[in-house]
Amino acid sequence: MNCLAVRDHLTALVDGELTQASAAQVREHLTQCADCREEYVAQTALRKAARAWEVEGGGDVWAVVRREIEQPRLSDLLDEIRRLRTELQTLRVEVADLRRQRSAYPSTAPLSTPSVRAFPYAAAPSDLPVNIP
Ligand SMILES: [Zn+2]
Repeated sequence: MNCLAVRDHLTALVDGELTQASAAQVREHLTQCADCREEYVAQTALRKAARAWEVEGGGDVWAVVRREIEQPRLSDLLDEIRRLRTELQTLRVEVADLRRQRSAYPSTAPLSTPSVRAFPYAAAPSDLPVNIP
């Protein structure tokens, strides 16, 4: 048996679907050919993983694979939640700052506009007079 024929039979060998005679021929080739042996080892590992998955997923391997691909990873969701929490915290601090500014300088323009957020007195009040007209 040459490599091409052996490769055709590898899956069947791994699945235990070859006749004893064919299996013996393939195995004989595997003792002499490192490339085919490597392929056999890879297919055996793949089959093993698939079996484990079938047990774990309770059925069709491809349904499990599809579910894995379609569902966002839980860890990604947790990262996003952490990021949003941090952002929310930052926004809360900003809102609190704006409220303080508004109560300190009630006559200024609406504080929610971006230009007011850059209001110099609010950004660095320490070197400025406390009571700004
Ligand atoms: Zn070979």
